[in-house]
Amino acid sequence: MKPTSIKPIDKPTDGADRTLDVLHFERDALRAIFAPKSVAVIGATEKTGAVGRTVLWNLISNPFGGTVYPVNKRHKQVLGIRAYADIARVPETIDLAIIVTPAPTVPGIVKECVAAGVKSAIIISAGFKEAGAAGVELALSMHHRLGDRAHVSLVTGGGAPLPSHPAAVQRRALRALKRRNVTVLEDSCAEITASQVVLSRGTRVACDAAVIALGAFAPPWLRNTGLALDERGFVATGPTLQSSSHPEVFAAGDVSTRTDEPHPKSGVYAVRAGAPLALNLRRFLAGGPLEPWQPQRRALNLLACGERYAIASWGGWSAQGAWVWRWKDRIDRDFIRLHSP
Ligand SMILES: Cc1cc2nc3c(=O)[nH]c(=O)nc-3n(C[C@H](O)[C@H](O)[C@H](O)COP(=O)(O)OP(=O)(O)OC[C@H]3O[C@@H](n4cnc5c(N)ncnc54)[C@H](O)[C@@H]3O)c2cc1C
Repeated sequence: MKPTSIKPIDKPTDGADRTLDVLHFERDALRAIFAPKSVAVIGATEKTGAVGRTVLWNLISNPFGGTVYPVNKRHKQVLGIRAYADIARVPETIDLAIIVTPAPTVPGIVKECVAAGVKSAIIISAGFKEAGAAGVELALSMHHRLGDRAHVSLVTGGGAPLPSHPAAVQRRALRALKRRNVTVLEDSCAEITASQVVLSRGTRVACDAAVIALGAFAPPWLRNTGLALDERGFVATGPTLQSSSHPEVFAAGDVSTRTDEPHPKSGVYAVRAGAPLALNLRRFLAGGPLEPWQPQRRALNLLACGERYAIASWGGWSAQGAWVWRWKDRIDRDFIRLHSP
């Protein structure tokens, strides 16, 4: 029998005594994270207070012996350093990618990193499964409707509520929840029984009625359709809202993901996709050229707080009050009127 070959161990460069290496250490896989020679900050920005700025600033103001590459789709430079539109354009193989973009964009970016040969990645993002706007709104609305006849608790899924909203909005929402006596439980739900909600850390919360608001999930049957899906099972589409694999299939709204330009799954985007979807369906049937749809970069968020009070945010700006509720109410009513027969 041919003896198995013994691979020589890399010559240690850090002075470590390899004779103590009983696990037969060959290559330090974590070197790319802890001693990178090239780092890409994907989502680097100049915006004050943004994580993408803080991470880039910390890297360039604490030299670590490597090169930093900002990656930003819209800007040619960030904090005076040349930026690249995506990881594929960075002129060097990257040891470490630090991804600081919103959760919906992360799976696509990770894929690009793999394709570009990036050796390791750190993801600093939020909004994967935690209590979102719907959960907060429902908790506040239920308290408003039931008053002191019921006690409302909000199970967040882990951290603080609204992790993908700006910090100021999170603080406003927390204050609103506290003022209305809603108990915030920073844990995830493991089980719901007839009389209790059981949390991951074992806490049992007495509960007569549980309301689940987990955000959009892809219908499982999509997996059997042969359509190209994104990492979470939503229909992958391009700018014309056609399926990436089947151009005769169109998808818009929460069930789909624009893989070229991911955006949050919310009513704002679902509604705005309606007109371009209708146009492209007609053109497709008539054999005409299809129009690409450019989703807006930001959306106005209006969070109802139960009584006639709401919290508004647009990018980093936020405000709250009865006037915000009246604003939201007018927008909602106009929308219903516009789409009523
Ligand atoms: C409490 C709450 C508050 C929200 N507030 C806001 C807000 O203020 N702003 C905002 O932008 N977004 C908000 N959203 C999110 C918003 O409602 C959704 O993003 C939006 O409804 C998505 O629209 P859609 O048409 O893609 O899907 P949906 O509105 O979910 O419509 C999908 C439809 O498909 C039907 N369907 C499902 N399966 C099948 C099938 N197999 N065959 C046929 N039909 C099927 C469903 O019955 C449903 O009618 C909120 C969500 C919740 C839960």
